[in-house]
Amino acid sequence: MADKIKVALNGYGTIGKRVADAVMRQDDMTVVGIAKTKPDYEAYVASHKGYPIYAVDPAKAGPKFKAAGIEIAGSNLDMIKKADIVVDCAPEGIGEENKKIYEQLGKPAIFQGGEEHEVAGTSFNAAANYGEAIGKKFVRVVSCNTTGLCRLIYAIDKAFGVQKARVVLVRRGGDPNDAKRGPLNGIVPDPIQLPSHHGPDVQTVLPHINIETAAMKVPTTLMHMHFVNMSLKKRPSREEVLDVLRQWPRLWLIPSWYNIKFTGDAIEFGRELGRSRNDIMENAIWEESVTVDKEGEFNAFQAIHQESDVIPENIDCIRAMTGIEKDGMKSMAKTNKALGIGNFNPWKLAPP
Ligand code: NAD
Repeated sequence: MADKIKVALNGYGTIGKRVADAVMRQDDMTVVGIAKTKPDYEAYVASHKGYPIYAVDPAKAGPKFKAAGIEIAGSNLDMIKKADIVVDCAPEGIGEENKKIYEQLGKPAIFQGGEEHEVAGTSFNAAANYGEAIGKKFVRVVSCNTTGLCRLIYAIDKAFGVQKARVVLVRRGGDPNDAKRGPLNGIVPDPIQLPSHHGPDVQTVLPHINIETAAMKVPTTLMHMHFVNMSLKKRPSREEVLDVLRQWPRLWLIPSWYNIKFTGDAIEFGRELGRSRNDIMENAIWEESVTVDKEGEFNAFQAIHQESDVIPENIDCIRAMTGIEKDGMKSMAKTNKALGIGNFNPWKLAPP
């Protein structure tokens, strides 16, 4: 391939490090650098992977990197200048501040779901609205929960029409390395006001979907869990619904014989597959839970791996914004292949 798209990762934590590795697994893009505020074990691994490391505030961080024996290649501004596109993976709210830098340097940037929709003006899910991101300067890849909901709701809406979606989200209290959010013991209605913000967030991608959501946080780190109910415009059979879900590699129907009983088993399956960081980038939908009731309403449980489901969407967003692939289905197929997404669906009978 001729010129690969040069991608800079401004922020290299849970999401940034995964996006960096996913970029390196594509044949049409490459990482020009990663930026961090301080040295830590993630910087140590990044340096061993050969990623050029840039410091967010070199005057402050430079001596710390030096003391740690980690070489820095310059400031994050130097890194951004070298890039065709920036993927901002800084903590929630910092992306909005960073936008000024991208504007000054005239670089397109992808923001993550911790930022408000207005920061970018376009919110993205590869299946639902790839075309809207083509050629855009700023786009936000929606959060882990919203990504999981958009994938499922879009697939069902396209096939049968969604009259109304009602979702209960049970959210993980923090990521596995999120010491600052723990220790925890309790169930937190979050937010207490109903409906929760997740429904309006889905509407930033799928504005015509009538949706209500309620969310709770629980003391777990592995995955989120959603109960999704949708009244449909058509009256499909359960088999017709399953056939539709099987067409989307990012929707993984867990067969009952896999004996995956809870989120711990799903993550353990990621370990067994030898997936990088145990990542389950697909919506993990329990096939047994997929039902169409007497009123024609769809019901299902799905688990969402918060650390990784947005990663393929970031890759597709890079292709859309840079215009190197105008067909969303083609981009998704390329990303899925490079990341091994959907390759354990038993109906494909492919080895892991
Ligand atoms: P994180 O705390 O794990 O990583 C943040 C990284 O940004 C760190 O490397 C930190 O050093 C760096 N950073 C701090 N200040 C910076 C600055 N001014 N400029 C550049 N980099 C800076 O955070 P995360 O969990 O990866 O979240 C990043 C974004 O992704 C947030 O918007 C978050 O809401 C969103 N998101 C997170 C998850 C998740 O489950 N962790 C899922 C989906 C979306």
